[in-house]
Amino acid sequence: MKRRDFLKISSAAIASIAMDGRFTAAADERASDRSKTSVKGAITCRKDLKTGDDISLLGYGCMRWPMIASDGGQKRVDQQKVNELTDQAIANGVNYFDTAPVYLRGQSEKATGAALARHPREKWKIATKLSNFQDWSREASMKMYEDSFRNLGVDVIDYYLLHAVGDSMEDFNKRYVDNGMLDFLTREREKGKIVHLGYSFHGDRKMFDTLLETHSKWHWDFIQIQMNYVDWDYAESGNCNARHMYDKLTGAGIPVIIMEPLLGGRLANVADSVEEKLRLRDPRASAARWAFRFAGSWDNVLCVLSGMTFREHLEDNLETFSPLKALDESEKEFLSRIAKLIHDYPTVPCTGCDYCMPCPYGVDIPGNFRHYNKCVQEGFVDIKPDGKNESADQYNQEMKEFRKNRRKYLISYQRDVMRESRANKCINCGQCIQHCPQDIKIPQELRKIDLLVENLRRSIED
Ligand code: SF4
Ligand code: SF4
Repeated sequence: MKRRDFLKISSAAIASIAMDGRFTAAADERASDRSKTSVKGAITCRKDLKTGDDISLLGYGCMRWPMIASDGGQKRVDQQKVNELTDQAIANGVNYFDTAPVYLRGQSEKATGAALARHPREKWKIATKLSNFQDWSREASMKMYEDSFRNLGVDVIDYYLLHAVGDSMEDFNKRYVDNGMLDFLTREREKGKIVHLGYSFHGDRKMFDTLLETHSKWHWDFIQIQMNYVDWDYAESGNCNARHMYDKLTGAGIPVIIMEPLLGGRLANVADSVEEKLRLRDPRASAARWAFRFAGSWDNVLCVLSGMTFREHLEDNLETFSPLKALDESEKEFLSRIAKLIHDYPTVPCTGCDYCMPCPYGVDIPGNFRHYNKCVQEGFVDIKPDGKNESADQYNQEMKEFRKNRRKYLISYQRDVMRESRANKCINCGQCIQHCPQDIKIPQELRKIDLLVENLRRSIED
């Protein structure tokens, strides 16, 4: 079930559900014994030990602002809605906003800056990034840095990140060291133009450890990592397990910012069988709430980012974080079993970040993966039962269901992904691969989807 649908149904149902002590008392009520955790008004905050500022544990990820179609057919940010969401977030204590020059094809910084400019500067912190993926020359990198101040309309950037590092040290040196940008940025930090300097990481364990060694030279103020209850022990596509990264960063005394707490939305829209288990444990909590509680339950986490497109998402998250009830040990154990179940589903680990876009041949890469993952999770894809402990009758019944689902898959594919953007338009040029922080073999996965569609079509015609 989609998160929005769940929220609509559950808000009506909540009133009728009797309070059950097992569910309320089971959540961890303790106030953190670490001095940096506090509750300001309603929302849980963490103390930034460098500045003494209270940072809301829920941060606004600005890569998924609502969009509307403009005259030319290109989508543009719906500024009115962005303003409303920002107002509501700030009114409820959210004060950390995370954007980047490349988000929403270059529209996010300006939209975020315009919305925030309507509030006093002391009410919010802004994080943005040096996203010099395509052109890492000094000139282009400097321009990107200076543009960020202009786009955001600020004199000081509170949190500045080297964007998506972790491919290789060669890549890191090329983008930030050889062109003198890191030397420049550390001087900017000394001058106070940047308050905190850090990086967002996507890569394997070896690269994580190697990069962390640079702390002695660059003195990172924070590091942003992909962390959620699946990636904790089951990071995919050669990514480093979050447990390892979190432990290392905590040991090094570097605060953690969390990205992808919902694993690109996959932990909000889980398979029905998984959702049933979550509901049994707590009928009032959305799947997303479980994921956010996991992310916020670690003391060294400064902020958990969430890209909230709809008001329902913001309101559900505000409820989760106001204040956050940390998971107890039995709940962590429960989620680790759920993580194993989710990990075993054959989905593509796409987070919908859009870094691979645009494809020069028009393929909607995340759109194809989103549709495929949704169908896998809803059981529309032909995953054959393994036959264990099943009678012939049960098996035949399931196979009948799978056949019916093939048709559903094709119909929804035609509806969700435009003809000219489908997987069969991929010519395997390989241009997108280097941009994917999840290290997905994009053309191979698209080929699999294309073959699946072909097979489904043929099996229906037969
Ligand atoms: S490999 Fe396929 S999806 Fe990737 S850029 Fe080339 S055509 Fe587009
Ligand atoms: S394929 Fe990779 S780069 Fe493209 S949207 Fe998915 S995660 Fe992002």
